[in-house]
Amino acid sequence: MHNISGKLIVFSAPSGSGKTTIVHHLLAQKKLHLDFSISATSREKRGEEVDGKDYHFISIDAFKKNIDEENFVEWEEVYKNNFYGTLKTEVDRIWSQGKHAIFDIDVNGGMRIKRKFPEQTLAVFVQPPSREEMEKRLRNRQTETEEKIKERVAKAEREFKFAKDFDVILVNDNLETAKQEAETLVSEFIDK
Ligand code: 5GP
Repeated sequence: MHNISGKLIVFSAPSGSGKTTIVHHLLAQKKLHLDFSISATSREKRGEEVDGKDYHFISIDAFKKNIDEENFVEWEEVYKNNFYGTLKTEVDRIWSQGKHAIFDIDVNGGMRIKRKFPEQTLAVFVQPPSREEMEKRLRNRQTETEEKIKERVAKAEREFKFAKDFDVILVNDNLETAKQEAETLVSEFIDK
């Protein structure tokens, strides 16, 4: 990772906070020159997902080899045997195109990136307006079992404690407002 002119824009949040929608909105703003950091993962590909677009889907062995060779900026075993991580080559790919990397990763990963690149990183914690609203959003997706929803809510409770370690907390009680606020935050940060 050589070119230090590129920035790292991290959006982290508990599931059900609306972060993915906000990240997609930002990616559509050409003037921001953002590109999505495609994580590597050892989990199975789901439904419509495309290898090399949503994730780089690799085997556990390949993932572990990358850990040993220190090819990751950060990595984590988010769920048992499901590893996720950001490859250094991915950030290089984006910076070499003169763009800034935007990340949709979990709270631990987000904090690690901020710690590694404190000056170059804008770390945004997206917060759902309330626990009730977050649960409602998770249920509205209708893709998860009750058990999975409970697991995600419990993970969220733990993650809320780290919100204060981020540069900004973006409360998402109105999606349109949150998108506009995110755009302003990112635009000001990359122009710095
Ligand atoms: P999913 O399996 O639903 O796509 O993702 C599960 C969790 O892993 C989400 O919270 C997602 O943000 C997180 N995640 C995705 N990519 C990475 C990564 O590169 N590093 C870390 N630490 N977490 C990631």
